[in-house]
Amino acid sequence: MARLQILELPSGVDDDRPPFVLVVDETSYPDAEVHLAAETWWRQFASDIGARGCIVTDDTFDIPANDLSAYREAVVDGENGSPDFTSPIAGRIEVRQPCPYCGDRQMIPRSQYAEHVVRLHPLEPGSNA
Ligand SMILES: [Zn+2]
Repeated sequence: MARLQILELPSGVDDDRPPFVLVVDETSYPDAEVHLAAETWWRQFASDIGARGCIVTDDTFDIPANDLSAYREAVVDGENGSPDFTSPIAGRIEVRQPCPYCGDRQMIPRSQYAEHVVRLHPLEPGSNA
């Protein structure tokens, strides 16, 4: 089955959004005539959506920026499909919660929240000091 992808191009100074090429790969049209008709249709579609160009090919056209498989494999535990919070990528995500006792409702990393309340707000409920 054909795949649709966007190949982003470097922006120029006058671009208000990144220029891109529409890539339609892994096509499988029965003959050259059908392929040509489909390619014409895709080129018009690409033009309509503001693409700078269009590539239509039977081959596989892998765009590294569109490859999210490494991320998916890194954060999903292979055994049960649930998130793997020990992965290096997942470890970069920091969950924070607002401190109800700080005047500016400071966002405290969840892993440091209990220590924060004990240290800065020892007289508040939730502090076991
Ligand atoms: Zn606080």
